[in-house]
Amino acid sequence: MDQEQALELKQREFNEAMERYEKVPVYKVIYKAVSVVNVSLQIYLLYLVHPLSIGLPLQIFSFFAAYLAADFLNGLVHLFMDGNDDYTSPAGPLVAAFHLHHRTPLYKKNNILLVYFNETGAKNWLVGYLLLAVLLIRTAAVPPVLSWIMVYFGILSSVAEVSHYSCHVTDSRIVQYLRYLGLFLTKKHHGQHHISDNVNYAFLNGFTDPLLNMIARRFSRGYKNRTDRHYATYTGAGTANR
Ligand SMILES: [Zn+2]
Ligand SMILES: [Zn+2]
Repeated sequence: MDQEQALELKQREFNEAMERYEKVPVYKVIYKAVSVVNVSLQIYLLYLVHPLSIGLPLQIFSFFAAYLAADFLNGLVHLFMDGNDDYTSPAGPLVAAFHLHHRTPLYKKNNILLVYFNETGAKNWLVGYLLLAVLLIRTAAVPPVLSWIMVYFGILSSVAEVSHYSCHVTDSRIVQYLRYLGLFLTKKHHGQHHISDNVNYAFLNGFTDPLLNMIARRFSRGYKNRTDRHYATYTGAGTANR
């Protein structure tokens, strides 16, 4: 099979995966269920952790440690997903739907809380993480500071989706202020992910992108000439706005 045929095969597999995504209700149910479970677990974790007093300095430290970790790990998942071209497995439709985030004009303007809820549905891995956090904190298996870091990390992973979404859709005053503080991605910084290839995968504020870019250079072949071309013949409505 030459390169052209291989690309055509991937495009066909992509379109078939999206067709399954559109026709088989379970995929949209998964998105909604993941949103509901993630947000519920985040609220429950806040309830669990709030009696654990660690004092203001450690509270601030926990928050920023979680910020860095969330920026890095969500970027790492993004890096892995952008390179994933397995559309034929049962998870294939979710992979294909994920790639449509590079077709940015599909984003629709929504209330920011709704964005938080909707975009959290793409984070299947977060369900496992949050369940583990519940288990560790409930059994007091981790010290209070680590408990707070774990809870912040779980919430900031969803906030990362809002930060990314904002780059494409909204310039509200609060978002602009968060960018000014360095807490949210700027359009200029994140724009490089879409203009260039294999760079700036971070989704929260981009602070760990230098490290992510090093990892990407070493382990990923990028998306411009690979997965971005797989949806070239896709003509469906897309899902980036879910
Ligand atoms: Zn991407
Ligand atoms: Zn983007």
